[in-house]
Amino acid sequence: MTSYTRTPCAAGGCSSTGRVRSRFCAMHEGHITRHGWAGGRTMREEDLREHTSLVSIGLARYANTEPVQIAYQIGEALLQWTPSWPVVSSTHEKAAALFSMIRNQGITGRDLVLRTCAVMAFIRAHRERFPTRLAEDIALGRGIRRLITLPSYGRPNARTLRTLGLVVRDGLDRFVFMLLKRMETDEERARQTFSLAAFDKGATNA
Ligand SMILES: [Zn+2]
Repeated sequence: MTSYTRTPCAAGGCSSTGRVRSRFCAMHEGHITRHGWAGGRTMREEDLREHTSLVSIGLARYANTEPVQIAYQIGEALLQWTPSWPVVSSTHEKAAALFSMIRNQGITGRDLVLRTCAVMAFIRAHRERFPTRLAEDIALGRGIRRLITLPSYGRPNARTLRTLGLVVRDGLDRFVFMLLKRMETDEERARQTFSLAAFDKGATNA
C-alpha cells in the first residue's frame, strides 16, 4: 500500500476517518492546532466569570500587601515585554506586538494579574480539559488576548498565544499559586467558623 492510506481518527470516540498522512480527522486536527490537544475546546468568557469575581475579591482584600503590589508591578512590566534572548523568532515578535496592543487598549498590570489568576483558577477547576502544559499555556495566552477585542482576521495563532501564556506564567506563576492558596485557606477558615460543630461548642443547654 502507499503512504496515502487513511486510518480511523485517533481521537477517542471519534468515528471519522483520519486525513491523509495524519492520525486525526480534520476536526480533531483543528482542535490540536487551536488548543494543543485533540480534546481541547474553547474556554468561554462566561466560564471565567465566577473565577474572575472570586479573584477580584481576593485581590481587593489583600490590595495593600506587598505580594499584590509587586504582582501589579510585574504585570505592568509584562505588558512591556520584548524578547531579549539572542535568537528572536517571529513568534516572539508577534507576542511582543500583542502585548503592546493589549497595553495600548488600556489594559493595566492589575487587569493582567486578575485575568491570569482567573484563567489559572479555571484551569485548576477543570484539569481534565488541560492535560498538558502546552494546553494550559495556550489557554492562558488566549484568555489574556481576550482582554481586548480584535477583528477575526487579526487574531493571533496558537503559537503566539502559547508564547504569551508562557511569558506571563513565568512572571506570575508563584504569585498566582500563593494567592489561590491564600483564598482557599480563607474559605476553609470561614467554613470552620460557621460549621455546625462551631455552634455546638458554645451552645447553652437551656
Ligand atoms: Zn476525529
